[in-house]
Amino acid sequence: MLNRILKLFSPSLKKLSSEKQARIAQSLFGLCAACGKDLGGHSRWRLASAIFDTQNGMANELAKLIRDRQWDQAAQFQDWRGDRNEREYYVVRCPNSPQVSLVTMVSTADMWSDDYIESTELLAAESSKDILRLAGNHWLPF
Ligand SMILES: [Zn+2]
Repeated sequence: MLNRILKLFSPSLKKLSSEKQARIAQSLFGLCAACGKDLGGHSRWRLASAIFDTQNGMANELAKLIRDRQWDQAAQFQDWRGDRNEREYYVVRCPNSPQVSLVTMVSTADMWSDDYIESTELLAAESSKDILRLAGNHWLPF
C-alpha cells in the first residue's frame, strides 16, 4: 500500500508528506519484532530492493544474499520501478532493543492490489551491528 500510494503521487512524491508515508508504513509493518509494541518511536531504513523480472534473477540473487547475511552486498541492490513488482527489505530499529528486525515486503505494480509483508524476523546481534553501521544516519522515523 505504501508504494501504491507513492506510485499514485509519482513523480510528484513530495505531495505525500513523510509523516503520512510513516503512518502507512507503520500500519503495513505491524508490531515490532524486538519489543512487540507498535512502531511509534521506532525507525526504518530500506536496505535493499529488487524487481521481479521474467527469471526473477535479481530477486533470487538478492534473496540468497539476505539468507547468507551478506548485508554489504545486499545493500548494493536498489532497483525500484513504480510499474513493476518488486521485493523490498526494510530494517526496523527499536528504541528498546539493540537488535534490529528485517521486514520483507512485496510491492505490487498493480494499483489495486495491496503490497504485503512476506516475513518479519528479528536479527542476531552480529547482523544488527552490521546493519546499524551500513544504515549510518539514514533512518526514517515512523
Ligand atoms: Zn521495538
